[in-house]
Parts: sequence; C-alpha cells; structure tokens
Amino acid sequence: MNNSAKLREESNKYTPGGVHSATRNVEPFLVFTKGEGAYIYDADGKKYIDYQAAFGPYILGHNYPYVNNKVIQALSTTDMYGVGTTDLEIEASRKITTHVPSAEQVLLCNSGSEATYHAIRLSRAVTGRRKIMKFQGCYHGWHDYVARNMLSAWDKIGKRDPGSAGILDEAIDNTLVCTFNDLDDVERTFNENKGEIAAIILEPIPHNIGIIMPQPGFLEGLRELCTANGSLLIFDEVITGFRHDLGGYQKVAGVTPDLTTMGKAMANGFPVAAIAGKKEYMQRFNTQPGGDVWFAGTYNGHAVGTAACIATIETMENEPVHEHIFRLGDRMRTEIRGIVERLGIKAYVAGFGSTWTTYFMDFEPVNYTDLQHNDAQFYVAYRKKLIEKGIYKMPMNIKRNHLSYSHTDKDVDFTLEAIETVLKEMVG
Ligand code: PLP
Repeated sequence: MNNSAKLREESNKYTPGGVHSATRNVEPFLVFTKGEGAYIYDADGKKYIDYQAAFGPYILGHNYPYVNNKVIQALSTTDMYGVGTTDLEIEASRKITTHVPSAEQVLLCNSGSEATYHAIRLSRAVTGRRKIMKFQGCYHGWHDYVARNMLSAWDKIGKRDPGSAGILDEAIDNTLVCTFNDLDDVERTFNENKGEIAAIILEPIPHNIGIIMPQPGFLEGLRELCTANGSLLIFDEVITGFRHDLGGYQKVAGVTPDLTTMGKAMANGFPVAAIAGKKEYMQRFNTQPGGDVWFAGTYNGHAVGTAACIATIETMENEPVHEHIFRLGDRMRTEIRGIVERLGIKAYVAGFGSTWTTYFMDFEPVNYTDLQHNDAQFYVAYRKKLIEKGIYKMPMNIKRNHLSYSHTDKDVDFTLEAIETVLKEMVG
C-alpha cells in the first residue's frame, strides 16, 4: 500500500469519503503534500505538472514567493479586529474597483458561494422580486438558490434537478433554468414571468462545463433583456475574474453587468472572494448606515486573503502575467489541434486565454445539451493516463485546464509529448 492509500484509509475514519469538498473523491485518489510553482507532489514523492490549479485559483503558481511573503508580512502586523477597517482592505478594494468595470464599490467575503448568495439577495432587495434565472451547467456555489441543474443527467436537462437533498422547494421553484447561448429561451422566460425576475446570474464563460464560449451577441443580448425587463445582470466571475483579464471577462467582452462576483484567481489560492457592482445597489448593504440588506462575516477582509489579493493583483499589474499565460494557452490549443488531426481523432479543442480543454466530439459545443456528444469515457480515461505520466488534470468528465505564470514552455513541451503518446496508445 502506498502512502496515499494509507492516508486515505486514515482520512476515511474521520471524514465522510475522506475529503472535505464534493468532487475531490476521484480515482486515482492521491494525497498531495507539496506545491511549488507549476508542480504538485503526492505523498509518495511523485511530481506532477499541475493544470487542475485547485479548480482555478493558481494564476501565478503554487506557493508564489511574492504573495506568500506579503501574507507573512501582513500577519506580523494585521490579523483581524472585527471593527472598523484596515489599510489592507482599503487597498484591495481600491485595486478591485480600479480594474473591474462594473465595480463601483466592493465588499470582501470568504468564498464564491457567499458572494453569489449576497448578489442574489441584493438583486431581490433592489427589484422587490423573487425569481432568478440561471443556465443549465453553470455552477455558482453550494447554496440553495443556485445548486440546481449543474451537471444534470441528460434526461434532466432544463427540468427540475436539485443538486442536493435538503433544498427547500421554494428555492428551487424560484430559480429558473435556461439554455446558455439561447437568447430566445431567455426572452421567452422573461415573458412567461413578467415582472417577477430579479436577476440573471451566469458564468460569462461556463467553465464548470469546460470552456463554452458565449456566442457573438449573447452577453450583449442578456444585457439588453435585463435592462428592458428591470432585472439585474450578475456576472459570476469567480473563475473568469482576474484570470482572463485584470478587469475580468466583462472587460474582454465589453459588457458591463450590474453586479459581479469574484474569487479564486484574485488571491492566488488564498481564501478571499468579493461582490462588487453599481454604487446605488451596493449602498443597500447594511455596512452602510441605513442599508437594509444584511452583509456580515467574522472573517471578511482577513489579513491573509486581503494581503494575498493585493500581492496577486500587484504582480499582474507589474509583470506580463496575462501575456505569458495567454501565449502558453495559444500554444497548447494550437498544438493539441495538430495532434488530434494527425491521429484522426474526433475532437474539439476549446479554450480562452490560459484555459483549454479537449472535448471528444466533432463540433463546438455552445451549451450543456451539446455535451451529450462528448465521449465522456474516453475523456476520463485520457485524463487518467495523463496523470500516470505526471500531468495532473482532474479525472472527471468535462473539466478545464489552467496555466499559471509559473508554467514554462518546457512544461508545455513535456505535456504535449505526453498527450500525443497517450492519445496514440488510446486509438491504437
Ligand atoms: N462560482 C463559480 C463560477 C465557481 O466555479 C465556484 C466554485 O467553483 C463558485 C462560484 C463557488 O465558489 P466557492 O467554492 O469559493 O464557494
């Protein structure tokens, strides 16, 4: 029995499934003990090039010295006080509102789920309406209002599909589900629920089902429909924020939502998240005297996450982070396209910036329904084989890969060679 297996047994004694978040209990079950730059190491000393990036936060790389040092420095002065504010919170907020187009004001919290919860509650308070709209396949966290119709079974697409037992029926009934990239569906849903929809929430690129690009005009169309119907547009940029641009994907797309949620890459792996938006809406939170929307959290603005956020953004401001990760992303996508073409494999290589994925299907998927054509078994087997070769990608269906500032051309060369070898083996 290797060390990972031993530790798994031990962990199973204390924790259901031995892991502390859904989707971590995958085969091969590995226990990781160290991360450094582009690499992670398991409990048996095996090294992997990491593209999982803990689902996206690592934009600079594991244990990035500049960020870690700033956190250590902050801890020796500021930890948390629970009253007033800190210079760190002011600086992080200044940076976020400077870069993100929709962020006239911002509030810090601890996780993406908290941020989307607050955004939805605020949209209800602002509009006086109950319902929200989400898209099949998008993930916005674990809470009741959004935990439905994520990776639905094919016969549940668009139908009632709660993501968890124990969710109140009322929460499910008030979250409507539409098809991504289908403006007619959105318009129809608005018409069928006249004056009842508080907000649309979406991942501007649904990364939780890989990399589904918004088709030309889709985000603009949502913006227009929300304005016309008096509803708020919420971009959940927990993955896209800071990774695709310092201003988020909204900056790339030129479409400004009313509210934005952020997390992950904003602090290179440290736990911090944010909700931002139009000042007139943000002022409804009761952090402002007279505000009537509850917003609180013991750990909000903690020095660890806040210092990491400042240091991560500073690095992106001062160094060619996006240039580097976008160039490597382009290389990866172009060269994988060449490999699958040479081997005659039916595949669509999707991606944006530092992210890429290979769908084993022969056309570009534009919504979750299209992914029925992806050869899931082949996809999972392919990723498992890459792990054996020292390339870490989550061995689950429909996931994306992330590059960081620490990845090098040499890492990409090694990865491409492994991809070609594995695919050759798989197709004989
Ligand atoms: N929104 C998106 C787009 C996400 O991908 C996630 C997490 O993966 C969340 C929200 C929830 O964030 P957290 O896991 O930090 O609660």
